Amino acid sequence: MKSIFVRVGIYFLLALSVMTVMIATIFTRFSRQNVRKMYRAELKTLAKSVSDRVSEAVANDEGATPEFNSFLNSIINLGDMRDMDIWILSNSQAQEPLPQVYTNISNVSDLPDDDLDEDLKIIIHAAEGGKTRSYTGYDKVYEQNMMHLAMPIKSAKGMVMGTVVINGAIDNWNSTVSTYQRYLLISLIMALFVTILVAAFLSRQIARPIVQIKSVAGKMAAGDYEQQTYIKRKDELGQLADTIDILSERLVEADELRESVEQNRRDFFSNVSHELRTPITVIKGYAEILNDGYVEDVKKQKKYYERILRECGGMERLVSDLLIMSRMQNPEYEMEEEVFNLIALAQDALRGLRVLTKEERVEFSLIYNDENALVLGDYERIRQVFVILLQNALKYADPETIVRVRINVEEEDLLVEIEDEGIGIPREEWETIFEKFYRAKNHGEKEGSGIGLVVAKTIMERHHGKIWVESDEVKIVTFHLTFPRVKEREERNGQD
Ligand code: ADP
Repeated sequence: MKSIFVRVGIYFLLALSVMTVMIATIFTRFSRQNVRKMYRAELKTLAKSVSDRVSEAVANDEGATPEFNSFLNSIINLGDMRDMDIWILSNSQAQEPLPQVYTNISNVSDLPDDDLDEDLKIIIHAAEGGKTRSYTGYDKVYEQNMMHLAMPIKSAKGMVMGTVVINGAIDNWNSTVSTYQRYLLISLIMALFVTILVAAFLSRQIARPIVQIKSVAGKMAAGDYEQQTYIKRKDELGQLADTIDILSERLVEADELRESVEQNRRDFFSNVSHELRTPITVIKGYAEILNDGYVEDVKKQKKYYERILRECGGMERLVSDLLIMSRMQNPEYEMEEEVFNLIALAQDALRGLRVLTKEERVEFSLIYNDENALVLGDYERIRQVFVILLQNALKYADPETIVRVRINVEEEDLLVEIEDEGIGIPREEWETIFEKFYRAKNHGEKEGSGIGLVVAKTIMERHHGKIWVESDEVKIVTFHLTFPRVKEREERNGQD
């Protein structure tokens, strides 16, 4: 597996090499074309001046004069100097062929080799027809690349008399191109070297955060969620790194949550087992004593039976509380829904507990500010909330006190307060008493399992309501409930 660093580096180099080859090819092609164009222009200018000079000499009848001969010599010299052959040919087919004295080669058949290039013959022929033509190619006579140009020599009347042919060695020019190519190659190699360094640097810049992110992600996958990439960039890699950082935080949170849920589950099971084991041990003990027949005193027997029944009642309550709690906590559990009056519900709950008030020597009072205290929900479950709170109030209230129930109908909500005067609840326990199996440090030696308030809270949450407690120094404990208010029975039913 190639590392991202090598991969990015290779891509850089590949892109660069393609670019280099393209630049070199295009440059060579253009420069070659340009050289030919320039060389052709040069040959053409030269041919033109020779052709003009010969036409002028013919017009002035300068043939065989020393001036003209020296002109012919200078052409040869020039040709030698510039690596070219300049021929002045007579066109024997013309009406007025160029007289012999003006030529430096009489005609094509006198040329160094009869075996003239076909293309050369073609351009000479074209020039005899009055056209200037050229071509470039390998010439077997000169044994090198040549540019040939043929231009007509015209008389004063404009008739073609002969032809100027220039055979120029283009290889010198080509070698100039080769020199440029060499320079180009050297500069490209140097550029390539510098670019390799730049490519290495850039690919490192790109690869480093990716490698970093990969290592962090690897650690996270192995279960070590507390990771940070420490990458601060404003591009997509930066965003990816931020996402990984956020992912890590979320995973840590989820892990902690899972751990605490797991701990809760363990605590819950151990609490339930504990809460059930105590009464079972008591029941077993008393049942064994009774079964062995050691207790003959009927009064004592009755007392034992009563204890067994009390413990069974406690267990029954606990099990049914747990059942309700688990049902309520399941979001798929559907509650009964109806609109009812909370005042009637409170009266119902108080009636059911009246017998207990005598035992505890406590009185109930119910006051409300409006008779129209409608709520929507499960009647039985909300009654259960009232029963739990009222039972607690009776249990923890001092004798000869009053447990007060107040119902206040407000604009949006219904507020309920259930107040007793007894052992009180210190500030630091106002939240914790709503936790499973929690019993306040001072629970007045009263029996209980610490599950009632959890059930009450779960039911209230399912009804979009709230429950909380407040207690003051004088040991007055007030449980507050709020319910979303239903303003009119019809309206609500209509909506449903
Ligand atoms: P239980 O009453 O069975 O112990 P609850 O969940 O109903 O369980 O209550 C949890 C704890 O909150 C109680 O153990 C008690 O310490 C405290 N508590 C509840 N209601 C009152 C109250 N009215 N006055 C004082 N303490 C209370």
